[in-house]
Amino acid sequence: QQRVTVIGGGLAGTECAYQLARRGVPVVLREMKPHKRSPAHKSDTLAELVCSNSLRSDNPESAIGLLHAELRALGSLVLASADLHRVPAGDALAVEREGFSREITTRLQSGVELVGGEVERLPEDGVVVVATGPLTSEALTVDLERHVGTKLYFYDSIAPILSGDSIDLDIAFRQSRYGKGGGDDYLNLPMTKDEYYRFVNEVKAGQKVVPHSFEEPKYFEGCLPIEVMAERGDDTLAYGPMKPVGLKDPRTGTDPYAVVQLRMEDRAGTAWNMVGFQTRLTWGEQKRIFSTCIPGLQNAEFLRMGQIHRNTFIDSPRLLAEDLSLKTERRVFFAGQVTGVEGYVESAACGYLVALAVHARLTGTPFVPPPATTALGSLYRHLTGEAHPPDHPHQPTNVIYGLFPPLSGRMKKADKRAAYSARAKQDLAAWLPLAGVVAQTEGQTSA
Ligand code: FAD
Repeated sequence: QQRVTVIGGGLAGTECAYQLARRGVPVVLREMKPHKRSPAHKSDTLAELVCSNSLRSDNPESAIGLLHAELRALGSLVLASADLHRVPAGDALAVEREGFSREITTRLQSGVELVGGEVERLPEDGVVVVATGPLTSEALTVDLERHVGTKLYFYDSIAPILSGDSIDLDIAFRQSRYGKGGGDDYLNLPMTKDEYYRFVNEVKAGQKVVPHSFEEPKYFEGCLPIEVMAERGDDTLAYGPMKPVGLKDPRTGTDPYAVVQLRMEDRAGTAWNMVGFQTRLTWGEQKRIFSTCIPGLQNAEFLRMGQIHRNTFIDSPRLLAEDLSLKTERRVFFAGQVTGVEGYVESAACGYLVALAVHARLTGTPFVPPPATTALGSLYRHLTGEAHPPDHPHQPTNVIYGLFPPLSGRMKKADKRAAYSARAKQDLAAWLPLAGVVAQTEGQTSA
């Protein structure tokens, strides 16, 4: 059978290689460590957790906890290894990082051919999975640009996303600047002069995340963090992303001094992006400052926090085919954070999906994507662009309920998560046989 080359032995590459080998596909996994390391990688083992040792909430009613549950049902290597090396951390799935990585490395040593050294150019032929992550080496980045035909994204500035039903609609009003587009595409949170200056002062004083040495800020002028703008002058934000021009509060008939604009993140309007609010404020400070200083956000639920870091990723919705292979070069697949998913578990999940797609290709069977209603399916929909309005810029995201198709009917917020989770569980069970996966029962680990 044809041999598959997986490049990158991180969270996505190890899961992908392992799942292919389990299905009888000969696999070579090429990892540049220990010969060369990215500025964030330190250890010699595979699947290194470069920062936190937490795989986040394990509560199956949270979107990430649901993804954990789905990966367990699929017999994921990453989840099985995390469960084996779990350390107490409340409802989070935290792991003893060295044991976790060693476990994965050992399991891969039988069944997968491991080859060390940097891959500077994609192999000339054969099926290749690129899983080199957010810190893909420079030489390979250049070569990938040649293959995909565009520059890869480099700095990733992410603005927070809010749950639609947590925004106070007695304060927010729908309107586009000068009535452009449909006239009411945006939700606007109006601010008085006093409210605006209080906000600016809090942003300036708020605690920021210190960049890693390899992440020296090189911001694009059009994409500056709010705290950088606030430092340039107290009115800079009011002339930038918070400019109130072309907007009138319909309830008071007045012109706000400044506004925070929210843009629809999903077609159903369950999730809203804070336009231009990329920031290095710590997550705690974002929650505190935004909910106490921005009218209408006093009860805001943050589906994703703002962040800025170096990140190499491709414009997946435009470049990738249905099976996550390059439209223009179908033997080349992409997996993990380089596709524009964000996070350890999301990257492993993407690696698993790509293993299914490659296996389908090699066996001449159709690739059956996971149902849209599952956590796996929501990530897949993010990569194909289906989870977003047309022309939505591709931005990395963790798994969040904003990527799921909305639930039908009205229900209390507290019941929503349980309903998302129950719907996903049912639909996943129906999909597993179609994907050729034998469901793992609870407590069983993938062998
Ligand atoms: P990686 O896990 O990065 O794996 C890619 C692998 O490819 C690496 O082992 C690398 O050595 C190898 N490689 C790169 N180029 C080449 C090449 N040319 N040839 C051969 N091998 C190559 N996520 C979280 O969930 N929680 C966090 O706290 C967190 N903190 C982060 C902090 C930083 C500084 C960074 C950069 C990322 C952080 N992330 C965090 C994101 C997380 O690291 C990624 O989501 C996840 O590791 C991506 O998995 P991956 O397999 O796609 O890439």
